[in-house]
Amino acid sequence: SLFSQLRFHTTVNELHMLPQHGLEVAFVGRSNAGKSSAINTLANHVRLAFVSKTPGRTQHINYFNLGDDRFLVDLPGYGYAQVPEAIRAHWQQLLGNYLATRPNLIGLVLIMDSRHPLKPLDVNMLDWFLPTGKPVHVLLTKSDKLTRQEQTKTLAQVRGALEQWPNCSVQLFSSLKKQGMEETETVIGNWFAQ
Ligand code: GDP
Repeated sequence: SLFSQLRFHTTVNELHMLPQHGLEVAFVGRSNAGKSSAINTLANHVRLAFVSKTPGRTQHINYFNLGDDRFLVDLPGYGYAQVPEAIRAHWQQLLGNYLATRPNLIGLVLIMDSRHPLKPLDVNMLDWFLPTGKPVHVLLTKSDKLTRQEQTKTLAQVRGALEQWPNCSVQLFSSLKKQGMEETETVIGNWFAQ
């Protein structure tokens, strides 16, 4: 499978240190939405994305190699309440510059907690990134915390809200229950194949 070859590649703190070649798909989302868990789950349980809960330590960008010059990129989470303004500003700049200017980037996986989807910062991200013309795939994580009925309802609601943007898709995902992995792999695989 696409992710079975996933290996840690490098950690980057400055934009000029980004790898020179290859294609990449980036993962981004509010802190605590389940991004690290999702990457680890897709990588088949290998503990790749370190679950660091120290805000000051999460300003870096982690690269994971899929082979054949393809990368997954773990971007800093946004929306930490307790982060000092200077660090927040640094993140925003790093993230913003990366997302707007990175030619290697072919698509964005946006992580949202399925119990709290489409928070203002998520909507900002969509508004801001989709004009690049690159696709966004939303993972509604921790779906195991919802009943079947709530899952169906949430998926329909978010899908409806996303209709205003072309190039945008959504699915349910659970790292705990391993729900949705194949669908995510198919979407990302198609991006790389184009
Ligand atoms: P990140 O900050 O976005 O990287 O979030 P983490 O992956 O570190 O997850 C944040 C918290 O949510 C942790 O306590 C995880 O154990 C929990 N979590 C993540 N994914 C799931 C999931 O699919 N189901 C459940 N029930 N909890 C999850």
